[in-house]
Amino acid sequence: MSTVDLSIVGNGILGLMTAFELTNKNPNLKIAVIGPADRKGGASQASGAMLGCFGEITDQTFVNEQADKRFMMAFDAHKRWPSVIENLNSLVPKADQQEINMGTFVVMNPCSGQIESDSFRELVSTLQRLNEPHEEIDPRDIEGFNPNENLRPLRSLVIPNEGSLDSRRFMSVVRSLLEQRGVQFIEQKALGFHQDGSGFSVDLENSETVQSTKCLLAAGAFTQDLLDAHPDLADRIPHLFPGVGFSANLEQVPNNPIRKVVRTPNRAGACGLHVVPQSDGSLYLGASNDLYLRPQTLPMTGIVHFLLECGIEQINPTLYRSNLLQTRTGNRPVSADGFPLVGETSIDGLYILSGTYRDGFHKSPVLAEMMAEEILGEEPTWQHDYQPERDLIPTVTKEQSIKVYLDHLIAAYYEHGWRAPKISSQDATRQVAEEKIRKFYDTHGFDFGISAEILLMHELDSNPGEAIPLLKKLFCSTKTLASVS
Ligand SMILES: Cc1cc2nc3c(=O)[nH]c(=O)nc-3n(C[C@H](O)[C@H](O)[C@H](O)COP(=O)(O)OP(=O)(O)OC[C@H]3O[C@@H](n4cnc5c(N)ncnc54)[C@H](O)[C@@H]3O)c2cc1C
Repeated sequence: MSTVDLSIVGNGILGLMTAFELTNKNPNLKIAVIGPADRKGGASQASGAMLGCFGEITDQTFVNEQADKRFMMAFDAHKRWPSVIENLNSLVPKADQQEINMGTFVVMNPCSGQIESDSFRELVSTLQRLNEPHEEIDPRDIEGFNPNENLRPLRSLVIPNEGSLDSRRFMSVVRSLLEQRGVQFIEQKALGFHQDGSGFSVDLENSETVQSTKCLLAAGAFTQDLLDAHPDLADRIPHLFPGVGFSANLEQVPNNPIRKVVRTPNRAGACGLHVVPQSDGSLYLGASNDLYLRPQTLPMTGIVHFLLECGIEQINPTLYRSNLLQTRTGNRPVSADGFPLVGETSIDGLYILSGTYRDGFHKSPVLAEMMAEEILGEEPTWQHDYQPERDLIPTVTKEQSIKVYLDHLIAAYYEHGWRAPKISSQDATRQVAEEKIRKFYDTHGFDFGISAEILLMHELDSNPGEAIPLLKKLFCSTKTLASVS
């Protein structure tokens, strides 16, 4: 194959949207998008594609200035999506036209911990502060939603201008459009990349090579595998953990289908329980989030059981009788500090776009624009601190991190059916966990406020021999971009 101007390694939403932005700006660019057709393990293919700006709010969303800025990016994306869809629809045949299914119901039930109430309160105050339309409602008015009575919501609201897309259909339409624009899709896994003269070679599984002047790594959580072959570079970039998520497509309940997103606030270490109606008439049920050391492509049995049980008990018991149409496992790219990686590396012409964690689909128009502007050397619309080679961005102190971890741990216990023993108390359990996590911090000398998700990482218990050395490398003697106030 001839040399292209840009090879994009990764065919998820960020690879596609960046190619879309670039070809909008310069139709003459020669671009190759590399990635397996089945997108196995990819986050985008498993995602619910909630365009969740407000629905994602937690009590930690505005914890400091950097966290505020990250929310503002989501808010920017929220304002942009209608015009992104309008623009796309003007370019594709009628059969491919997309529509945002507007409307999100956020329900807060008693299944999680205090974090859920705190997040709901933060959500309401943000909606008020930003004058975003919303209304507290009676949950019995939500179509298709009929939880077991003992799990009925304590509070519920509707956000009429926050909606969802069908992620797989959306990506397929963007891909067709890009093909029409001459973008080449190479349905192979990249084994690695190296500098080659003044450009790059990307080696493919079928032994072929793609030559390009510039190269963008946008392979989601798998970007870390590609970087690991270049340790000098990888060591300067916040590590990417896979946030493994399981989701399922079920048949809708006949005669009483869910019509809009229904979701809880984000829950312990995860994105909360949610259902999203799909364009093929099925119902998406999501999603778990467990951090591992390496991407996973199969779900844990217990997680499958847990998610289906949550859907049946907290959304609609009639789902028990629905056929399970499809299951998916995706790996969210979670950076060590929870902020994205966007921009050029110290290797001229090598770019990274990843680390989008749980709302990368929603933020993709903003991130893709940032990336396209940088690749084309244009003035940036967004000033950001997310250059890939950077020190970690702190959000919480060690003390705050311990508190958040404990809040999430107790919430996780309740979500998984825990009952505090009557001969003791919830506080006693919390105290034991606190002693353990303090010892963990002190023994290993971590001096960074580590996120609850990383502290809850599956492999800290099951594979400490590998997990601890990595965490020590990342979080001891940490250089940070700023201090936490
Ligand atoms: C279960 C789940 C639910 C989610 N729900 C939402 C949601 O509702 N809203 C939202 O905004 N976000 C959601 N997210 C998060 C969102 O999906 C991610 O932030 C986003 O999709 C990341 O996109 P990406 O393109 O960076 O990565 P990916 O989608 O992971 O894409 C990377 C692609 O690279 C390919 N690839 C991997 N290795 C290689 C290689 N070596 N060579 C070439 N290609 C390779 C993969 O096949 C994959 O297709 C969810 C994620 C999960 C897992």
